[in-house]
Amino acid sequence: MIQRIDKLALELPVPKHANANGAAAVQELLGGKFGEMSTLMNYTFQSFNFRGRKEMRPFYDLIANIAAEEFGHIEAVAYTINLLLTGSTKRGTDPSSTPLKDATDFRNANHFNFSGQAALPMDSMGHFWTGAHVVATGNLKMDLLHNFFLECGARAQKIRVYEMVDDETSRAMLGYLLVRGGVHIVAYAKALEKLTGVDVGKLLPIPDISNKRFPEAKKHEAKGLHQILYRFSPNDYKRITEIWTGAHPEDGSPLRVEDGPPEGFDPPELPSEPQLTAPIGPDIDPEMFKDVAKKLFG
Ligand code: MN
Ligand code: MN
Repeated sequence: MIQRIDKLALELPVPKHANANGAAAVQELLGGKFGEMSTLMNYTFQSFNFRGRKEMRPFYDLIANIAAEEFGHIEAVAYTINLLLTGSTKRGTDPSSTPLKDATDFRNANHFNFSGQAALPMDSMGHFWTGAHVVATGNLKMDLLHNFFLECGARAQKIRVYEMVDDETSRAMLGYLLVRGGVHIVAYAKALEKLTGVDVGKLLPIPDISNKRFPEAKKHEAKGLHQILYRFSPNDYKRITEIWTGAHPEDGSPLRVEDGPPEGFDPPELPSEPQLTAPIGPDIDPEMFKDVAKKLFG
């Protein structure tokens, strides 16, 4: 089971301007091959399907626990997309004013066709996410190697999107997720080291550019966020401490597990977009609406 908390893991600033094409680029980090939906579903299936967990408990705990953190990453990327799309078309109730005209020039018309100007489970080119992105072979060494590769690929994508967009919302999200993804890279490297004796840490960072190059990531690392693995459960996954231990391979700082999720921040308000009847259109009978509200809430 999973417990849900109505907070975002990071504080997301509201952008000064809408940026629909920026939102389209950020979609890669949500529903792309190396996006957050892929990390979430890879670790979720690997944890459901984990055989022999009695003998291999710390590895099971690690994969299952990181899966829980990835849910919050999907949330952070989706909210970034939603904030960038907010106000990207002409807000109003008159369809004859062609309020969605600008959408014909935006890279991803699906944001206006399929949703109320909001995130979709697809990549930056509008391809829907697919379960083919999930690798859960059942072989622990292979799955851990894959997860290490997946996190490195996710890091590469984040860096490239960082180089495409410069709004404060995307950059805040990217800075935070570069640090948290970095934690996952190190966690899977440590897991491979424990399982096989190989020194994966010597390969890091992949790609070979430090998080400290990105001001929005650097500020989190200065506070030690790259040293913390959150234990996303009231009572379970305690044996992650057997893998998340020792020194950080890049700066030698001590690693520690923090019990419970980060405190979090209130999710930003997403205003109505009436031109998309999101969440309601102008012709809903206000009396009927009041009547329904009265029946529901007294
Ligand atoms: Mn992630
Ligand atoms: Mn991750």
